[in-house]
Amino acid sequence: MLIIMQTEAKPDQIKGVTSKVKLLGFEPHISSGEQRTVIGVVGKDPFTTQDHFLRMPGVDRVIPISRPYKLTSREFIREDSVFPLDGVDIGGRGIVIIAGPCAVEDRGLIIEIAHAVKEAGAHALRGGSFKPRTSPYAFQGHGEKALKWMAEARQATGLPVVTEAMSEEQIELVTHYADVIQIGARNMQNYSLLHAAGASQHPVLLKRGMSSTVEELLMAAEYILSHDNRRVILCERGIRTFENSTRNTTDINAIPVLKEKTHLPVVLDPSHATGNWNYVTAVARAGIAAGADGLIVEVHQEPENALSDGFQSLKPERFAEMVTQIRNIAQAIDRDIAVSSHVSL
Ligand code: PEP
Ligand code: MN
Repeated sequence: MLIIMQTEAKPDQIKGVTSKVKLLGFEPHISSGEQRTVIGVVGKDPFTTQDHFLRMPGVDRVIPISRPYKLTSREFIREDSVFPLDGVDIGGRGIVIIAGPCAVEDRGLIIEIAHAVKEAGAHALRGGSFKPRTSPYAFQGHGEKALKWMAEARQATGLPVVTEAMSEEQIELVTHYADVIQIGARNMQNYSLLHAAGASQHPVLLKRGMSSTVEELLMAAEYILSHDNRRVILCERGIRTFENSTRNTTDINAIPVLKEKTHLPVVLDPSHATGNWNYVTAVARAGIAAGADGLIVEVHQEPENALSDGFQSLKPERFAEMVTQIRNIAQAIDRDIAVSSHVSL
């Protein structure tokens, strides 16, 4: 349930309510908006306790949250959540572009591609150090060595880095080197990983499971937010359908649906959604037109020699063209490419 405080509620009245929430065995989650403070109370059936709060000083009203996800819902936080990723804000008017190879393959390549994507307008660098591969015989990533190379690429370019943690045990290592923890599609419902990512208080990019509904994605995000880690970016990356002319089917509908149901930023991954570099730019344009706050795109200097996902990777020149087109689409809907303190475009 939500306890809506009066606009003129005093700090000690807010404190009084949160203490009462704790006394009753629930966790208070505070959202201090410009107008008013809202206290989210989650746990088993908190609404039965609403009478305890109704007459407390400073309380305006108490309402239930109708959705199964609570802290993730727009009922709890009405405004879009905007937060910084080292030099750039995500979730605001500016479109954020995260780009880089599927996997971090070697030190020289990742540093070179970091410079190339930055030059083309990217705000953050992606690259897998631990790779979730369908086959156990496929390249599994260079692990910590790759994380160190990513950190060097950040040092060289200033770009924040996004990389995947595949298990709870990897969270500590990934947060040591990276700015954003990616949780992959195959791990969207790995609850111990979600809890660990939430507890880390690090920004998280949570990808939609390939056979998961939008509601399941929001429930997965709720695990992270339940630790009061609200720096979560949701990612549509295509879902499994009967259609097999592309690797996955971009659920473009998910973008406006998510923007309606949650305050969290939403990005699209047109690379995994299509599986084919030739369709990436068109689908990226569609995603931005549909209201996505950003993109995560695979870029490789020699896609034909990439150790993973080469077929869906753009060459840097094509990526630069994509960014130009994305800028045009963004401006047509009264947005723009985000301004980053690291990128002088
Ligand atoms: C990736 O980003 O390289 C990746 C493995 O994505 P997904 O988890 O969406 O398949
Ligand atoms: Mn990939």
